[in-house]
Amino acid sequence: MSNAQAHNLTGDITLNGGEETPISVVDAENVHFRRQSVTGSVKLINPEYVFSCQRPTEQTVQPGETETTVSGSIEDIYVAHDGVDGTVVIDGAQDVYIEPNAITGDIEIVGEEQLFYNQLTDSPYGYDAYDAHGLGWKRSVSVSDPKHGVSVTGGRSTAEITDVTTDIELIVSGWDNTIDITGRTATVTIYLLGSQNTVTTSPYIDIEIDTRAGVENTIEQEPVPASDIIDTTREEAYAGHLLGRDTVTFQEPATDKDYCPNCGANASAVVTRRQEDAFFVTNSPIYRFDAGGSSYECENCSLNAGPEVRLSEEERKQVLG
Ligand SMILES: [Zn+2]
Repeated sequence: MSNAQAHNLTGDITLNGGEETPISVVDAENVHFRRQSVTGSVKLINPEYVFSCQRPTEQTVQPGETETTVSGSIEDIYVAHDGVDGTVVIDGAQDVYIEPNAITGDIEIVGEEQLFYNQLTDSPYGYDAYDAHGLGWKRSVSVSDPKHGVSVTGGRSTAEITDVTTDIELIVSGWDNTIDITGRTATVTIYLLGSQNTVTTSPYIDIEIDTRAGVENTIEQEPVPASDIIDTTREEAYAGHLLGRDTVTFQEPATDKDYCPNCGANASAVVTRRQEDAFFVTNSPIYRFDAGGSSYECENCSLNAGPEVRLSEEERKQVLG
């Protein structure tokens, strides 16, 4: 073809549309196919690792004569939303990431070292519905009170997602990304592709993993702190007892218990409820008539357990006027 284009490029590249197809990408390090990025088919030749939410098809992809060649010292190549209309051939990439519903046509993979594939259970919202997208290398994205979802595509990036009170989605695609989520009474549906990514949520978030394809990824939830179960500390119970006998009730963490003696559940926040009948002088018991027994409760059986003990930033503002 006389009008075929050849680009010799260095560094990170984004295919945003506008290139004539078929496109041939030679020797990229990492290739990221984002959601709804290719209207057409993709052929991967000798990639090392492929992380995919889409199953490779049995069909042979025959691209025809290349119109655009992209080569050089390419590090990451991002195929944007609506980035390619036609066929793409990726020859000799290291890692290839195929996000949910990225490619409308066939995906043929030839000679891969390893394929990590996990079928999508439910499709995520459309690209445009998302509240924020993190894209690239060592990027950071910060979102408060998201309504639909957040995506992180790339490597060594971070996302801080705070005040989550509505069910949202999270797409993580790449290597060594770190995502922190805080909120309450909401479900986060996770689509995870790649390696060494970490997603951590606060307590009171339900985690639903739709897709998990890769190695050494971590999805974990911080435990409910004992302080959430305690409504009166020992100090609070003693306060105001200047002189005289009284009975006080308070709770303390039972740090020696990893299960709850009351309900039997494995629990991270077991507390013991104590009652003391004592003679007080200036907020200290100097004689205990009856130290009382202990009873236990935890985040599973305590009436105190639950997200309502924490107010969101918005609610705090309302309460404080
Ligand atoms: Zn319990």
